[in-house]
Amino acid sequence: MSAVSEPRRDLRLAGLHKRYPNGYTAVKSLDLEIPQGTFFALLGPSGCGKTTTLRMVAGLEDVTSGTIHIGDQDITHERAYRRPVNTVFQNYALFPHLTIAQNVEFGPKRRNVKDSAAQVRGILELTELTEQAGKKPAQLSGGQQQRVALARALINRPEVLLLDEPLGALDLKLRRSMQLELKRIQEEVGLTFVHVTHDQEEAMTMADQVAVMNQGVIEQLGSPYELYTNPKTTFVANFLGRSNLIKGNVVGREGSGADAVVKVDMHGTVISIKQARVHTDSKEGWIGIRPEKLLIQPEGTPSEDPGNHFSSAVVSSASYLGVSTEYVLTMPWGQELICFEQNRGVRGGLVSVGTKVDVSWRQEYVYLLDSSQDVEAGRGEA
Ligand code: ATP
Repeated sequence: MSAVSEPRRDLRLAGLHKRYPNGYTAVKSLDLEIPQGTFFALLGPSGCGKTTTLRMVAGLEDVTSGTIHIGDQDITHERAYRRPVNTVFQNYALFPHLTIAQNVEFGPKRRNVKDSAAQVRGILELTELTEQAGKKPAQLSGGQQQRVALARALINRPEVLLLDEPLGALDLKLRRSMQLELKRIQEEVGLTFVHVTHDQEEAMTMADQVAVMNQGVIEQLGSPYELYTNPKTTFVANFLGRSNLIKGNVVGREGSGADAVVKVDMHGTVISIKQARVHTDSKEGWIGIRPEKLLIQPEGTPSEDPGNHFSSAVVSSASYLGVSTEYVLTMPWGQELICFEQNRGVRGGLVSVGTKVDVSWRQEYVYLLDSSQDVEAGRGEA
């Protein structure tokens, strides 16, 4: 006997476009598929259009053109309250005169749901608020109030839960613990969560998939690992973590298939970059390497021999951060590169400013970006 599987209820945005009445285009022909049951993050700097996108999905903002589907259901022009979607905002908007249990029960009661009290108990347990049930919102901490807002949305069993910077009002420590909490709850309920944030660490901690958004378009979509290790644009390379970007000239290609590499001349040294990590067809490019992938050792000391070597760099600053040290290195061609080194205690102290160092990195970590892109894009925007 074959089991009949339920049709998938993925959230699909096709050609979604938003032009505000004042003529400003906030979202530009956006295509996005968010698989049912995933924790998805829309990540980007302030003003990139992520809230506008979320509000269109929620039905709080008209669509200029394009469509929004959940599974086969077209909800593009559906009224907000009829969509199988709920939103949790940064300001929790709880009813101050009602208890926590009454706040959570408000939605089901309005819809005349029969056993709402049992549902409230279940949701309060899930969000670890059982002991707070009889209190008023003002008697709770920020994190607890945020959980009430979440409970109030979850009890409606939406197919898609939209979270608009829901942790933005919390202090850093609480935010970090709520991130793990949110992730646990999403895994337990298995609903599609779409989380909007400008905080890259938040997106990376929680989301299965992240879409990096910039000026109304999606620059790159992937798992946190894919985005971080193989960024395709200077914006993603700079916005998600930090990148050293070095000018290079393509001088040849070798191999084929998975072994194909592009040869790039970097200030006199030819390095190989895997084709899968090359994101330009032009003769010039930005060679990208993450700061923690740079290894340094005082000139003349034996190296771990990981791949590409450069001598005669000079340490121009060293900032001790406890767990790690952030070095700025002046390369022989005059450019400053950043190097993060873990303080594992093997060196027996910092490398002091002015020391000549050899710099090396494994070639499999390098990526090549299009030279027509702004090398500063995304820097300091988070
Ligand atoms: P933030 O994190 O600051 O909320 P965001 O990425 O969510 O930013 P949106 O709120 O979607 O960005 O705004 C995108 C752009 O659209 C901004 O430049 C904003 O000024 C503009 N915008 C938003 N609402 C309107 C409106 N009602 N009329 C005109 N322009 C608007």
